[in-house]
Formats: sequence, structure tokens, C-alpha cells
Amino acid sequence: MNVPNPDAVELAPLPAPADFESDMDRPVPFDAGTAVLVDCPDPAAAPWLAHHFADWFGDQAPKVSPNVANVEILPIPIANSQSETLNTGNTGNIGNTGNTGSDEAYAVSADASGVRISARSLAGVRWAAYSLRQLAIARRGTFRTDGRVLPTLRISDAPRLPFRAVHLCWFPDTRPAQIERAIRLAALLKFNAAILEPWGTFRSARHPWFGWPDAPATPEELARLAAIGRDLGVALVPQLNVLGHASSSRSCSLKHAALDLHPEYEPLFEPGGWNWCLSNPEARRVLRELVGELHEACGRPPFFHLGCDEAQPPSCPECRRRPYAELVGEHIAELAAFVRERGARAMVWHDMLLDRDDPRWAGFIACGSPETAKLADALPRDVVICDWQYGNPDPARPRDDWPTFAHFLGKGFDVAGCPWLNFGAMEPMADFLASHGGLGLVATTWHHLHGTDWRDAFRTAACAAWGTPPPPVAPQFDTAFAAVLRLAGLDAGVCDYRDTGLDEEQVHAP
Ligand SMILES: [Zn+2]
Repeated sequence: MNVPNPDAVELAPLPAPADFESDMDRPVPFDAGTAVLVDCPDPAAAPWLAHHFADWFGDQAPKVSPNVANVEILPIPIANSQSETLNTGNTGNIGNTGNTGSDEAYAVSADASGVRISARSLAGVRWAAYSLRQLAIARRGTFRTDGRVLPTLRISDAPRLPFRAVHLCWFPDTRPAQIERAIRLAALLKFNAAILEPWGTFRSARHPWFGWPDAPATPEELARLAAIGRDLGVALVPQLNVLGHASSSRSCSLKHAALDLHPEYEPLFEPGGWNWCLSNPEARRVLRELVGELHEACGRPPFFHLGCDEAQPPSCPECRRRPYAELVGEHIAELAAFVRERGARAMVWHDMLLDRDDPRWAGFIACGSPETAKLADALPRDVVICDWQYGNPDPARPRDDWPTFAHFLGKGFDVAGCPWLNFGAMEPMADFLASHGGLGLVATTWHHLHGTDWRDAFRTAACAAWGTPPPPVAPQFDTAFAAVLRLAGLDAGVCDYRDTGLDEEQVHAP
């Protein structure tokens, strides 16, 4: 990597280091007089780019033309991972984002002769466009922006892991603009999926009692967000907790998004309301209908997350009548089949599939019993295991072994690692997954979608999943992240003070 002026680097994830050259001391114009040549077999690529340049740059947008004259083509890198061997089950790809690192690879150059982009798919063209956008700055010396400049640059770039997701929780306390901004930010950081978990905020047409009054995540709003994500290269993957966490509220709050206001639906849940009552066919019907509604609203994405973490043992007489693991396994398999019929793959959290007392998982997250651990052998193999490891068993050394990942990979599952605030583990996790045929990384955010935790979860995971180290951070002001966060907000059309920056407020920040 040749970066003469580190303060000028405003790109995350950094491109594959060996092939990134950038020199802002030799700026080249990037304005209405610039020709951007796009070499991509997808006929939608050049129109997509022209449309977005117009959105982003208005009448100062560079001119886009497809490579019809067959001028010199930039070599496109192959993926630097084993992602070609990804088992994508019956869906074939990750939405419109491409399923292999090679499909998402791109090369781009900018010099006095203009700008060139080469990619094998629209996905690669998108990532090239976001790299250019992050690197472009306003031309100097004017009052208002009058055209932009790019560093003289050459980038040859490909992701390491094929599935790079953020996980967003939509609480009743979450401002809707925050969700859109997070999806747009994820795209700019080259994530290709956003798992969206409504916490009592989905407004079901069939089951309006399931959620708080005036729930903001209406089917129309989800469809709007899914369309934004699709356009930007981010598949919006809905989540519904079909086992525990049925209160759709943080456990510490003791709230229940259904029963606190609609106690008449008590039979659908285990006493108290934490788990769904799986022996009740009505509960299973409701869950199927909710899954269908959510999946439809999000435009039938290639995945659906069924949750399934941190369940409690059953306490109702019917559910206690048979081995609980058998009931849970039947339930998950039935919903996974339902999701499969809709052309998608189910995802589940991993923790109930590991016996918490098994010494092999000492220091790792495991919430199951010997009985529920047997589910790891019984579940259909197209279910994606999202293995969340939020602790670091030995902070003194970076891990190169991830026994729980290896356990599920060994059983033939696709595995995504989920690090949350385990920032130091993100790169080793991604290294392990990339070298063992893992699917990807999921940057969970939970109730930390603000402040430096949000920044670090997104940026560190983006870099780890892409396969490059986090970029240098300027000492006083985090220029790189401020710039990209601002772009996400501008694209979302924010006009409220609270929807800018990392926190809603700067003095009383939580
Ligand atoms: Zn029950």
C-alpha cells in the first residue's frame, strides 16, 4: 500500500492493501467534465452508476459510459478467500449482491486521462463507486462546492468473506431515521446484508396485537427500506424470534410487546411469556404467518433469521410432555422448510445448540443442555448458524482457534461469526472463517447503535470481513468515519439534529 499522506485516507474498508495506491498530492478532476468508463458485463451497471452519480453530485456528476470502444481494461482481482466453495443451498446467491468474492471484486483507476472501473457484476461496480465517493473531496478555493477531485489512484479490490452483515435492532425507542442511516452506512462500508430485528415494532396486518401500538415497522416501511438496501447492494434480512425472546423486549425491562397489552393471547406463550408455546399449533401457525409477512414485506430476501437464542426450559404441561429438544427441533425444521419454500435460507443463533456444561466450550457462549445440543445433528444443513462469541476467553492472545465455529463447520453448516463489541476478536474470527470455508461475519449492535460502539462495530467488522486492517484514525477528529456517516445521513435526507453524528445528543449522550 502506498499512502504518502495517511490523513488523506478516508476509505473503510481499505482495499486489498497490496494493490491500493493513492496520492492526493496529485489530484485529478472528478466533475461534469470527467469521463467514467465502466467495463462490466451487466448492462444495468452503467445506468446504475449514472443514476447514483446524479443523485450524489447533481449537475457536477461525472459522465458515465459503458466500455463499448474496448479500451484498455483493468485486471479484476480474483477473490482472496475460499468463497468460491460457499454452499449457498438452494438460493444460489446473496440477493443481488453476488455470492462470491470474485463476483464482488473490482478495479478502479483515476488519473489525468479519466476514471475507469472494471467489475464482473453490478455488485463490484457498486463497491467501486463507494470507494470513489469516499475518496472524492470538493475542489479547493471556492465558496460552494464546484466539482470534486480524486487522488490519482489505482485500486484492485475483492472481499475475503462472501457474507458481510450488520444486525440492527429496531426498538420502540429507535428513531426510524436511524435504521435507514445504518443501512446506508452499511452499504458504504461494503456490507452486503443487514439483518433487521423488530423489537415489538413490526406492525403485522394479520396479527396487530403482536407489537406495540403504532409500531413503526409497517410492511410499507419495510418494503421501502428493503428497496433502498437492494439498490445499494445490501439485502434486508428480517428476523423473528420463534423460540425464546418472545417478549420482543429486552429481558431486563420485563416488558412484553404482546401480553402487556393483550393478555388474551397468553396460550401462545409459555407461562410468563419468554418462550413461545411450541406444543400449541396456534402458536406455530401465528409464527408461520408472521415469518411469511415479514419475508414478503422485505421483498423475499435470500435469508430469514429465526433467532432461537437464550430460550428457557418449558413450563407448560403440554410442552413438558415430550423431550423439549425434539419439539424445538421439529419446530425449527418446519419453519426452515417454510422459509425454503419461499426461496430463502433460515438462520439461527448458535447458543442453544451447545451444551453449556460441555468443557469444550469453556469460556465460549453456550446456553443449551445436553438435549438441545443434539439439535446440531438434527437441523437441516441449509440452516445458517450465527455463532455469537462476545467474550474473549484469553484477552492476552489473539485467538487462532474457534472451537465452536469448527464444531458447526464440521457438521456441514454454513457459519457466520458474530463479535458484537469483541473488537479485538473480529480480525482473528474472520481469518479463521475465511481459511475454514466460513460464510461470513455479522456485526451485531443490539442496544449500542450509537456512539463509539456503533462506529467500532461497523468499521472494525467491515474491515475484518473485507480482509484488511482498520484504516488509520486521525488523532483529533475521526475524519474517515465522520465523512462516511455524513454521506449516509445526507442520502437518507436527514434534517433533524438528532439524526446526525454518532449520538442523538452531544452533551447528554448515553
Ligand atoms: Zn407450552
